[in-house]
Amino acid sequence: MTQKSRTGQDALTDKEPDNPLQQAERDFVALGIAAASIILLLGTGGSVLPQALQALFGNGGKPDMVLANALLLNIALIIFGWRRYRELTREIDERRRAEARAQVLASTDPLTQCLNRRSMFEATEEIRDRAALRGEAVAYCMIDLDNFKQINDMHGHVIGDAVLVMLCDRIRGLLPREARLARLGGDEFAFVVSFPVGHPERVDDLTIRLFEAFGEPLRLPEVTIDITLSVGIAADHEPDGTIGEVVDAASLMHRADMALYQAKKQGRNRYFWFEPSMESELRFRHQLETGLRRGLSRGEFVPYYEQQIDVETGDLVGFEMLARWRSPQFGLISPDIFVPVAEEIGLISELSERLMEKAFADAREWDDALTLSINISPVQLRDPWFAQRLLKMLVAANFPARRLEIEITESCLHENIGLVRSMITSLRNQGVQIALDDFGTGYSSLEQLRNLPFDRLKIDRSFISELREPANRTRLVDAIITLGRGLDLPLTAEGVEDEDILKALKSMGRLKAQGYLYGQPEDAEAVRTRLKVAGRLALPLADAPKPALAAASEAAKRQRAKP
Ligand code: C2E
Ligand code: CA
Ligand code: CA
Repeated sequence: MTQKSRTGQDALTDKEPDNPLQQAERDFVALGIAAASIILLLGTGGSVLPQALQALFGNGGKPDMVLANALLLNIALIIFGWRRYRELTREIDERRRAEARAQVLASTDPLTQCLNRRSMFEATEEIRDRAALRGEAVAYCMIDLDNFKQINDMHGHVIGDAVLVMLCDRIRGLLPREARLARLGGDEFAFVVSFPVGHPERVDDLTIRLFEAFGEPLRLPEVTIDITLSVGIAADHEPDGTIGEVVDAASLMHRADMALYQAKKQGRNRYFWFEPSMESELRFRHQLETGLRRGLSRGEFVPYYEQQIDVETGDLVGFEMLARWRSPQFGLISPDIFVPVAEEIGLISELSERLMEKAFADAREWDDALTLSINISPVQLRDPWFAQRLLKMLVAANFPARRLEIEITESCLHENIGLVRSMITSLRNQGVQIALDDFGTGYSSLEQLRNLPFDRLKIDRSFISELREPANRTRLVDAIITLGRGLDLPLTAEGVEDEDILKALKSMGRLKAQGYLYGQPEDAEAVRTRLKVAGRLALPLADAPKPALAAASEAAKRQRAKP
């Protein structure tokens, strides 16, 4: 049977000349003919052969010609049958070899020659069976490269592939002989290893050696590459040696994956053993993600507003918009919970823009002198079109740019500083104010503060709360305020919770303040009521002072005039 007949479509149709079924039938007929020939040979040979021998030695007459011909034909058929048999066995051998080759290909990763995801499952079950016989435990360790995408992007896929191969060799070199190593796809690897029950520290040792091995950079002919790993580990025995729930290969893999997720979340370049709490956390996280997607399409995200007060005069000068999620499932949720999730699943821009649209509409009903501050995530600032999109939204909402202040955190400055600078500059040119939020917590350098055109610094709550203790009267807050003044930047103090703090601030010169002392953040309705009572809602349209764009360009002129 040929190799071709075994592959693809032709193996499935009956009409093809090389169809395996037809060939098997032919082989069967050939075998039948050979068998019949042997029987006939025994029959005819018994009478013809003695006659032929006698004729040969001149002892008898000629053998019967018909029988002699039949004998010769028999012999020919037997030779034919024998050759067919030889061919058949050769083909079967070839087929076995091809099958073995196909199996190896199907179970290994072509680049690194380790096992692949599919075969790793079986390998894990095998090691578990063997370990169970010896009374040992099994650990499944999942490895993920922290920065592989960057390596690929920066150096290209050829180098990326070489890194994967070297990495695989390094891991293989550390593993005990019986352990199995697999590439699960992309930059994800796993190994499974047995260890004495009650001694998970053996696996810790192995993992630590793994991290040590990657402390050395990978040296390729073209480049030297630094690599860090995150690792998640799960075992089929508890650390004390007991067997908890029944754990099979699939759940081991799933648990190691959850531990890996934890390692990534805690900042990468570390390893975690699976713990049951990870499972519930992940389930909650999954619910949060689906709830967030649904909530976004159902308009469950709403802006709340926190008052900003001029410390000296006590006047309300504006509001900071703070996002809230009115989730039917979880209740009112704080942005500390959902903003990081929205950032991770790529929904933060959409979420933020929806909220801004609502906030612009709300703020247009307020006194035109009141400002609106909006928090912008570092993820949004990675979008080179962010400034354009924001300005377009302002125009669409007919909201004056001069009333808008965006708050960015210091972490934005560690990313693409060039992009951030050009974004800030183009927003400021349109009249938007830029504040540096949570100042003091993110290690921005004086150099950055001097070179980036901020309009305001917001002193982080953690420093302000220290002012409560008169003994603390902190030199630190004093220093921050002096720094702000030195840079000619106005300051806002966040987290003003009581009169003691306010009193301390009053002695520190001109500042804006916000915090629970002035009330908790409120929704649009409550703000509207508050402003109505204070007589600070917008004037009816006829009395409105200036159209938005004219105001924006006036503000832009002011900004450009600034040093
Ligand atoms: P943030 O910008 O530092 O906002 C101030 C946070 O402190 C708010 O928490 C506010 O409710 C709280 N706060 C205000 N005054 C006081 C006080 O006197 N004492 C104490 N202990 N806390 C006070 P919230 O609303 O939970 O917001 C948390 C963070 O979420 C914000 O910190 C901001 O970074 C982020 N965030 C809020 N809304 C958005 C948004 O629309 N987009 C983005 N990207 N981030 C947002
Ligand atoms: Ca803020
Ligand atoms: Ca803040």
